[in-house]
Amino acid sequence: MITTRNPATGETLAEYEELTARQIDAKIARASATYAEWRTSPVADRSALLERLAEAYDANLDKLARQATLEMGKTLKSARAEVAKCATLFRHLAQTGPAMLEPEEWDLGDGKRARGHWLPQGPVLAVMPWNFPYWQVARFLAPTVLAGNVGLLKHASIVQGCAALIEEMMHEAGAPEGLLQNLCIGSAAVEPIIDDPRVIAVTLTGSEGAGKAVAEAAGRNLKKVVLELGGSDPFIVMPSADLDEAVKQAVAARIQNTGQSCICGKRMIVHSDIYDAFMAKFIEAMQAVVAGDPFDAATEMGPLSSMAQRDTVLDQIATARREGATLEFGGEPTEGPGAYISAGILTGVPLDSSTAQEEIFGPIAQVYRARNIDEAIRIANAIPFGLGSSVWTQDTAEQDRFVRDIEAGMTAINQMLASAPQAPFGGIKRSGHGRELSRHGVHEFMNLKTVMLP
Ligand code: NDP
Repeated sequence: MITTRNPATGETLAEYEELTARQIDAKIARASATYAEWRTSPVADRSALLERLAEAYDANLDKLARQATLEMGKTLKSARAEVAKCATLFRHLAQTGPAMLEPEEWDLGDGKRARGHWLPQGPVLAVMPWNFPYWQVARFLAPTVLAGNVGLLKHASIVQGCAALIEEMMHEAGAPEGLLQNLCIGSAAVEPIIDDPRVIAVTLTGSEGAGKAVAEAAGRNLKKVVLELGGSDPFIVMPSADLDEAVKQAVAARIQNTGQSCICGKRMIVHSDIYDAFMAKFIEAMQAVVAGDPFDAATEMGPLSSMAQRDTVLDQIATARREGATLEFGGEPTEGPGAYISAGILTGVPLDSSTAQEEIFGPIAQVYRARNIDEAIRIANAIPFGLGSSVWTQDTAEQDRFVRDIEAGMTAINQMLASAPQAPFGGIKRSGHGRELSRHGVHEFMNLKTVMLP
């Protein structure tokens, strides 16, 4: 059984029976059968389904949002925004997706030509996390539908209610049976599914550990894998930055989703000339964060997603202090059953310590001082991750340096980094490989068949 709990209260929400090996086999068989039909479906039908999915998400926005808030503690306001963003993605791909599947042609010289056809490949397994329980899945589901592939979803154990609703939305939108099937399973059941020859590829969003396990299994089977793993993104503030806006967005980056976002700035790297001014404002704003009941409209930050997640963050703070860092304030668990923790700031984190090298998935900022742009870039790159980054400067030469030299899949200039349906999303280094969203995401699990024309 998989048990889900409300992290704000500790109450048990529901119990879900895990699928048996035989039931999993039946679901994979169903996925194959659906694929045999769906692969040749007109692209217009796939677009129409994406439109209907958008309508289903809009119509059920409140129900979906409430389930996410109940299961993983994000504020209802942010859960609603997440559901709305999924509808935007479905609509965006419904409208722009067909053009992404148009064949390409190449001139081979001597009057010869070749054409590339984008073809589907089969059932794709998605192993997904709890932090954005709908958005992370939508990023996989929308391209799957458009491409003519089919999906098998292994969602995080703690959001099984959201997972069931995702399948329900497919039914509501009139999707063919088996186009997306929710597999209620624990992580131990994932490897045999990757081993199954009927499954052609796997995509995972989550921790490095889960990424390694899934990539190893995919590698053994010579199957393609897309990995969207952790990050400890730099948030660099230079002297020419709009300081008030930078501070506002730095706080938003750290407390959004109670700090449980892969791409929000986690390490603030501030130029010495403005360090003191930044810190004064940042400390004041972080201390003013209103934490509490995620269903309350006035709440800015809910609990962490589980007591286990809170223990992890508390352990990381204790380790940071042992390693010589200073906890300026915060990082305190609150009394009572909920997985609450206050927003906090760490300074003086040694660059070679484990704290500097790890992702802290909670509302704790690390602040570093940099004497110049070279040092800022050196600190930014001194980690194994390379997911996103956010840089604050009005100086275009500095902006160009950051774009060229920061080792990351994404750099946001004078704004907090956020994903957008239109733009590619993904990382380098230990943050994973492959891209989601945009035509790059759509093409990840497709076969670009080269046809030599007569
Ligand atoms: P996990 O990476 O463990 O969970 C993500 C998904 O992977 C879940 O569906 C999980 O299933 C599954 N999974 C876990 N281990 C394996 C495995 N060995 N083989 C196959 N599937 C597996 O995240 P956690 O919830 O444990 O969070 C731990 C840390 O991961 C966080 O503190 C954060 O640093 C990072 N993380 C990063 C995310 C991101 O967006 N980049 C999202 C979530 C976490 P199950 O739930 O059943 O264990």
